[in-house]
This record gives sequence, C-alpha cells and structure tokens, in this order.
Amino acid sequence: MNQVAAIPSDQPGAAGKVNLLDFDRQGLRDFFAQLGEKPYRAEQVMKWIYHHLESDFGNMTDVGKALRAKLEASCHVGPPQTLVDKAAADGTHKWLLGMDGRNAVEAVYIPEPTRGTLCVSSQIGCALNCQFCSTGAQGFNRNLATAEIIGQMWVAAKQLGNVTHQNRRITNVVMMGMGEPLANFDNVVRAMSLMRDDLGFGLASKRVTLSTAGMVPMIDKLSEVIDVSLAVSLHAANDELRTELVPLNKRYPLAELTAACQRWIARKPRTSITFEYTLMKGVNDQPEHAKQLIRFMRKLPTCKVNLIPFNPFPGTRFERSDAETIRAFQTQLLNAGILTMLRRTRGDDIDAACGQLAGQVNDRTRRSAGIRQRVEQGEAHAL
Ligand code: SAH
Repeated sequence: MNQVAAIPSDQPGAAGKVNLLDFDRQGLRDFFAQLGEKPYRAEQVMKWIYHHLESDFGNMTDVGKALRAKLEASCHVGPPQTLVDKAAADGTHKWLLGMDGRNAVEAVYIPEPTRGTLCVSSQIGCALNCQFCSTGAQGFNRNLATAEIIGQMWVAAKQLGNVTHQNRRITNVVMMGMGEPLANFDNVVRAMSLMRDDLGFGLASKRVTLSTAGMVPMIDKLSEVIDVSLAVSLHAANDELRTELVPLNKRYPLAELTAACQRWIARKPRTSITFEYTLMKGVNDQPEHAKQLIRFMRKLPTCKVNLIPFNPFPGTRFERSDAETIRAFQTQLLNAGILTMLRRTRGDDIDAACGQLAGQVNDRTRRSAGIRQRVEQGEAHAL
C-alpha cells in the first residue's frame, strides 16, 4: 500500500462553510430557501457542480452576482483532496483521497470498451471483518459524509477529462470500494441519488450498483427509498463456511438473506441481483461448493453470479484458485443454467483490484494494530 507521510488537512478557507456536495437536490433546494433564494437557483448551481464540474462560484456565469457573493460567503464545493493518482498498465486508475487530516480512502476507475466503471468507497475502513478482504484487516474509523462519497466521483470525473456531460467517461458506479455501504445508509443513499439525478451525474438505475455483505433489514429499506441495482457478496452458500468468511452471516444467516433477496425481486420485477463469489483455493472452490451455490440460486431464479478470483494482499492466508478450478466451477454453474460471469482482474499491479483497497485508515477498533503485531511476529495466518 502507498505510504503517505502526512495527509494535508481540509481545504484552506473552507472552515465553517457548508459543503454543497453534502446535499441532494431536495436538500439543496431547502438550503437555498434558507438563504432566501428560489429553488430553481439551487438547480442552476447543481448543474454547474455536476454537469460542468465547477467548484468556483465566480465561474457560474448565469448565477447573479449577489447570489454568487452570498454563496462564497457561506458555502463551498469541497471535494476530497487527491493525494495519489495512479494509472495501471491496463488503463485502470486509482486515487487515494484525503478525507480529513488523518484518513484517506481509495476510488478506482476501470475502463472497458463499452463502459467505464468507478468503484467508490462508503466508509473509512470497515467494521465487518470479512476474512479475505484487506479493507477489513485495516479496521474501521468512521462513515464517509455524502460529500466525501459523491466527491470521489466528482474528483474522478474531473481528472478523467472535463468533457461534455453527455460524453462522460464514467458510465457506471459500483459501491464496492472500502466499507459496507448499507452500514452508512443515509449518506450513501443521498450520494447515490446525486449519481442518478438528471441534474447530478444522470446515471440510470442499472448503472448504479450497491454491494452489500448482507445487511438484511437495510436491503428492504433500500428497495423502499431509491431505485438502484443490488449486488450481494455471498462467497459461500452454506452457513458454516459463510460465517467463517463473512462474520455478518451469523447475524443474518443465508435463510434470512435469501428471503430479503426474494422480497427485493418481488418489489422490483424485471430486476436481478448479482451474487459475488470470491474464489479461494481449497476454501470455497470445490464441486460441492458449486453444488451448494446452485441450490441457493434455485431460490432466486432471475439472479446471476459474478465469480471473482481472489486477489491476494500482504499477510493473507488465502490464495487464488487455479485457472482450471475457476473454469470448472463456472462450467458447473453454467451447466445448471445459472448466468455466471467471471470478473477479470484489473489493476492488480497498482493494488486496485477487489479486496485490495486499503487507503489510510486511522483504525479505532484496534483490529489493525493487533493484526500488524501478529504479522510482525511471523504468524502467517494472522489475516
Ligand atoms: N462491503 C460491501 C462492499 C465491498 S465490495 C460488500 O461486502 O459487498 C468488495 C467486493 O470485493 C465484495 O464482493 C468483496 O467480497 C470482494 N472482495 C473482498 N476482498 C477480496 C479479495 N481479496 N479478492 C477478491 N474479491 C474480494
């Protein structure tokens, strides 16, 4: 992981000012009402912020001078600070973004011939402690604010080229970076509504995907408040193994998760859920595991599977399954009629692949300290 000696603190001159990136459209309209301004003014400014990626009120030419002065005095457009911007050989980009003086998270852009996907973080670290994920091993500091979530997209969009809104290089967003997005529900929903809003980034519901380790009550709540796509990190289709890999399974076991997914589908006919399954050598990649997964998927016939070859990180006890095993696992699922994709590993030369995002987390759970100590003592299985 990149070592960053000191993270610069917040933008100069921003102290005490309201960050407009914290508001969705309604919030911005309400804020403008408080300033004694008409709601359509909020929408004008919103367009400047998200269509033109403009942060300087002085350049918002169709906004009156008096309002510009008012805005300058009380608020700012404050994206996170870019600490490191790295490009991989395959075109993948990774940003290390400073969120405050002590913490940084990562966002990753993955270009493909027909789309460009941005992977966004929702928390500084993660409290779920999934055994095979390097973010989990970093411990947890805090939830990201709405501005810090949508700000990742704002920074990436700006740095990928200030093209016209219609030609944006980010066509898809996945909430698959650091953190459990459903554990930071309100801020994540507000940020995703900015991703979806026509005056925001204007992405269709199919192009904004939230990935969860399976926070059952929040899956239901999500389906009630916003139209986005859902991915669920499964990794094992039997409770014993899943609890070992994803400790949250103890609280929300497979039967409950299955029922929540069925309710999601019932509420949103014609949609599908993607189940992510990270393949780890000898752990969850055997024919019997595929059989269990097939049985699980029978209860969710319109859904699909996304196989992810495990991406190693320092200190992990897991290994990636061999190519042959991965192919056999995929074939077994395909032969059972289950739509199964294999996620190509991208950006692993810059540690930007799934599960490799670590950022700089000022851990408050003391988990990372314990782990670091055990790794230093030569305990290879510490992670
Ligand atoms: N907490 C959410 C969002 C993180 S998503 C969730 O669990 O869904 C990150 C995705 O990458 C998840 O599917 C996660 O299980 C997977 N992942 C984590 N560590 C990985 C690793 N080392 N190799 C491959 N995939 C990994």
